[in-house]
Amino acid sequence: MEKRSECEIVQDLLLGYVDDTLNAESKKLVEKHLSECANCKERLKMIREDMREKEENQKKEIDYLKKIRRKSRIKSILIAIGIILVIVLGIYISKFIKINRIANKSSQSLQANNIYIETRQMMGEGEVAITKEYIKDGKYKSVWEIYTDEGSKIYSTTYGSINSDEVITIDDNNKTVLIDKGEFAKMKNQENSIKFVPFVRDLSNSLYIQAGAAFVMSIDVDTYEIGREYYVIRNQFEQNQRWEIWIDKETGLPLREINKGGSMTRFPGTDIVKKVSDNVQEYRYEFDVVKEEDVQVPDYSEYKIEYSDLDEINELLSNK
Ligand SMILES: [Zn+2]
Repeated sequence: MEKRSECEIVQDLLLGYVDDTLNAESKKLVEKHLSECANCKERLKMIREDMREKEENQKKEIDYLKKIRRKSRIKSILIAIGIILVIVLGIYISKFIKINRIANKSSQSLQANNIYIETRQMMGEGEVAITKEYIKDGKYKSVWEIYTDEGSKIYSTTYGSINSDEVITIDDNNKTVLIDKGEFAKMKNQENSIKFVPFVRDLSNSLYIQAGAAFVMSIDVDTYEIGREYYVIRNQFEQNQRWEIWIDKETGLPLREINKGGSMTRFPGTDIVKKVSDNVQEYRYEFDVVKEEDVQVPDYSEYKIEYSDLDEINELLSNK
């Protein structure tokens, strides 16, 4: 075999020398040769440059891969956000459609010329306050009763007609009649206040209110206690969810309004709560049941008549 030249031997060792994997003896040999041989020194320089170039390329490749990975992560985050937005928007739109439907149905139902509206307010202690509103062809009678364990008692009956300036309130217990005239009576005689029901009235006023309600309210469907479907509407931002209203799906009219823990009974002389009861208002509606005699003002000529005219009182006050 041909004896290899020192240059060839050193050049074989150069890679190890650069990697620093040579034993001390070989290292010494290489260093000694390099100090004497410009050719091998040049070779070492080339090897070093070559390696640096390789390292740089590798780094570039890794950076590139990292960039791609980051991009695809951002992309999937954006897609997730997009999906969430679409779902939230979908929920919002479906709520808005429900609210809009309730508003339209309720105002359609309340347009009826012949409608009976009953409101029951649980007063606690076995008392229920009931108002009965008989409305027929612009005329109305409004009866206020209290139900207790002993039976029912009518407190007053009010007669009027839509947009007139007179309200007649008859108290059969004391045999008195109060006749209101003027602006106050006019206010009472507005269709809105005669056919008063909570919540839906405000909705039918504008699309903005409906849009706001769709944002604020949660809407569920239930049949509990009623036997047919109704919406349960709550304020989803209210912390304790104390308020809710039940809306009949068919008529769009409220069936029940609940304020949870609305009234408390305490042990006398202490701040200890004995009983917490919900404040509940119930509504009933009947269409085409009101008869002419229901809204006819009865003969009150035997009763003591009082007049109250707020306009006159206001005038007197402003003249002073
Ligand atoms: Zn050499």
